[in-house]
Amino acid sequence: MSLDVLAIGTHPDDVEIACGGTLALLSRQGRRVGILHLTCGEAGTRGTPEERRVEAEAASAALGVAELDFLDFGDGQLRTGRDEEDQLIERLRHWRPTLVLGPAPLDRHPDHGRAYRLVADACFYAGLARRGASPPFRPAAAWSYMQHDPFEPSFIVDVTTTWPAKLEALDAYQSQLHQPNLDRDEPATKVASPEYRMAIEGRARHYGQLVNAAFGEPFLSRLPLAVSDPLALVPGGLS
Ligand SMILES: [Zn+2]
Repeated sequence: MSLDVLAIGTHPDDVEIACGGTLALLSRQGRRVGILHLTCGEAGTRGTPEERRVEAEAASAALGVAELDFLDFGDGQLRTGRDEEDQLIERLRHWRPTLVLGPAPLDRHPDHGRAYRLVADACFYAGLARRGASPPFRPAAAWSYMQHDPFEPSFIVDVTTTWPAKLEALDAYQSQLHQPNLDRDEPATKVASPEYRMAIEGRARHYGQLVNAAFGEPFLSRLPLAVSDPLALVPGGLS
């Protein structure tokens, strides 16, 4: 069955951290949302690929995601060759998402920048009739969510109503993220620190207040955005 929105993450937990509130919101609006992880997270300092798969399933359920799948492009050495491009093209043609959400062009983890290029290229090539045997399909838009490095957002989604669902998804990643009531005997990492959890909330509060919302998730569009009702762009709340 086709999807309205496909969120593509490099490592399990990337999309949940960056745009989980938006995915839950779309899902509650009746849109069919999918998550595709490009790797199984085997190079992570904490947790195992098996553990991360179970965590990813619980996180998807928390966000109301209809489809969850994994590719195996190599955590910590993301491969972006012809074979990986073909595999991603097949997924796009299978699910036919109107909108793709993916990583930003530049980020702290080099896999994220590689994934940006791979996703952008696959979205274009998937629309070429003479690329591969399956019927061509090109998503109408591909936008980037924000991970480590900040950028000037093209727009911010008010995720106040779905913030609890996002927190539930983050709680599912017990091996990756700090859990206030859980003491795991594993190496300390930046992402697993209490400060990182606070920074996720801090960033959402910062971008939220720019659009008069309690929590917001920022996105980047390479192209200008179309709107049929300009008033729909006006933030609610106190200006
Ligand atoms: Zn990542």
